[in-house]
Amino acid sequence: MIDQQKRMDLRARAGGKCKVCGKLLPLDGPIGVRGEAAHRIAKAKWTLKRYGEEVIDDLRNLEWTCHDHNSAVLITFNPVERERLVDEIRGESRNSRPDRLGA
Ligand SMILES: [Zn+2]
Repeated sequence: MIDQQKRMDLRARAGGKCKVCGKLLPLDGPIGVRGEAAHRIAKAKWTLKRYGEEVIDDLRNLEWTCHDHNSAVLITFNPVERERLVDEIRGESRNSRPDRLGA
C-alpha cells in the first residue's frame, strides 16, 4: 500500500523532483500536476504474486516522477535488474526486522 506518508517520504528522498526530467512536483493536486509514486517493478497481478506487496510497494521500488514519466522508470522486463532490486529489498527488510527472521 502506498499511503500519504510513503508519498511524502518518496518526495523528500527525490527532493521533490521527477526522477527523469527534474521537474519540481507538488505532493497534491490534479493528475498531471502532482508527483506520482512510480513503480520500478510494475504493480501487476503476476508481480504481486511472485514478490508480494511488501516488495512491490517498498520505497526502493518507487521513484518520484511526473505523470508523463511514470512508466519511464520501469524495470519490470529487465530480469537482471529486477531480481537484483528484489534481493536488495528482501535483504534490507530481513536486517531491519529481526522478529521476522526465518519467516
Ligand atoms: Zn518528468
